[in-house]
Amino acid sequence: MTPSPITHYPSPRIAVIGAGVIGAAVAFRLAEKGVPVILFDRSDPGRGATAASYGWVNANRKLLRAYFDLSLAAMEEYRRLAWRLAPAPWYHVDGNLIWFDDPARAAALRVNVQRLQEWGYAAEWLPASRVLADLEPGLAFRAPDTAVAWFPAEGWVDAPAMTRRLAQGVRNAGGRVLTGPEREVVDIGAENGRVSSIVLRGGQTIPVHKLVNAAGPDASRIAAMVGRLLPMAPRPGLSVRAEVPDGSDPLRRPLETDHIAIRPDGPGRVLMALPLDAEVELDDAPAGPVTLDAPLVSQVLAWGVEVLPALAAARPVEALVGVRPIPADGFPSVGAVPGRPGYYEAVTHSGVTLAPLISRSLADEILGQAGNPLLRPFRPERFESA
Ligand SMILES: Cc1cc2nc3c(=O)[nH]c(=O)nc-3n(C[C@H](O)[C@H](O)[C@H](O)COP(=O)(O)OP(=O)(O)OC[C@H]3O[C@@H](n4cnc5c(N)ncnc54)[C@H](O)[C@@H]3O)c2cc1C
Repeated sequence: MTPSPITHYPSPRIAVIGAGVIGAAVAFRLAEKGVPVILFDRSDPGRGATAASYGWVNANRKLLRAYFDLSLAAMEEYRRLAWRLAPAPWYHVDGNLIWFDDPARAAALRVNVQRLQEWGYAAEWLPASRVLADLEPGLAFRAPDTAVAWFPAEGWVDAPAMTRRLAQGVRNAGGRVLTGPEREVVDIGAENGRVSSIVLRGGQTIPVHKLVNAAGPDASRIAAMVGRLLPMAPRPGLSVRAEVPDGSDPLRRPLETDHIAIRPDGPGRVLMALPLDAEVELDDAPAGPVTLDAPLVSQVLAWGVEVLPALAAARPVEALVGVRPIPADGFPSVGAVPGRPGYYEAVTHSGVTLAPLISRSLADEILGQAGNPLLRPFRPERFESA
């Protein structure tokens, strides 16, 4: 059936464009406040950058103090969101381990741990022997006297599962979740300079009062629809899910070492990712699935086996390239945009960590309340309008 060109819904209505972890969280916060919200995605919830995310919840390498403070507050906000949505089997706080054999990286880690300790972050050193005895008996350290940085307050999230749960929460609270290729937003209408409608690929025009751009790596395209320039510096990343055949759990918590980061991914599964600063060329790789026999997937698994020998029996079950949605200066762009009434942005790297805080603050702002002051340095107005 051809959709009617105009569909009328009760007004005022708020649209959230993008059902990744950020958009799903924003829509959930609005829906639970009784706001008539519609969450749009051209795909299913959690299939964009969120699908490939390593999901490490942390404030570990946030060198700018304001960004560190924001991330630390987001870690705290996670607990409240998980309580709100309990049971939350997608959320885990079992600490994180980092060590490097490369001398330069080991030295940088020492500097980072010192900084984090001075900033009051939970960070300490454990000898490898203690890690093996108390935390991770399955690890293989190259040197028995390796010093391991231990961050007990950090965690990880199964971001696609969390996103699906948030989308379900939107529906449960009376909001709508409209997904599929026909629901791709292709244009935004304005009346008297104010956002007034969105146009979907399927041909529908939906009147809206306000809209949130949570389109992740495609956020600049949505911004352009309201005549705004949102410069982005997206970076691709690879993650590989693997299964251990006997269903054992070879790892209890995330770790990062020279070439690779590995975390549990549910019973009998791990997720391996290339760290953000990995010197592996991915720039030409399109977002989406990678064939499991690709040389890079084998290389990732080999790096995993070096650290966690039990992975010798593992087989990769999914490999994904995801594009990190990074605004050009590396920091989030969150909030209303001066001169674009009704238009809001929620675009960020580290979106898995930040989603609980950004969504809470943005929902408050959209409803006319004060947002979280920690977001003040990360307002969209620092980027010029086109
Ligand atoms: C490999 C990798 C590792 C990462 N590791 C971490 C980590 O350890 N910790 C952390 O905190 N963060 C991490 N990140 C970053 C984090 O995953 C992202 O910041 C977060 O997932 C962004 O979520 P999002 O909802 O903004 O974007 P997305 O998940 O990309 O969602 C955007 C959605 O918008 C939809 N969309 C786009 N355009 C339109 C349109 N026109 N109409 C309708 N729908 C549209 C897309 O289909 C998509 O579903 C990582 C990212 C990658 C790729």
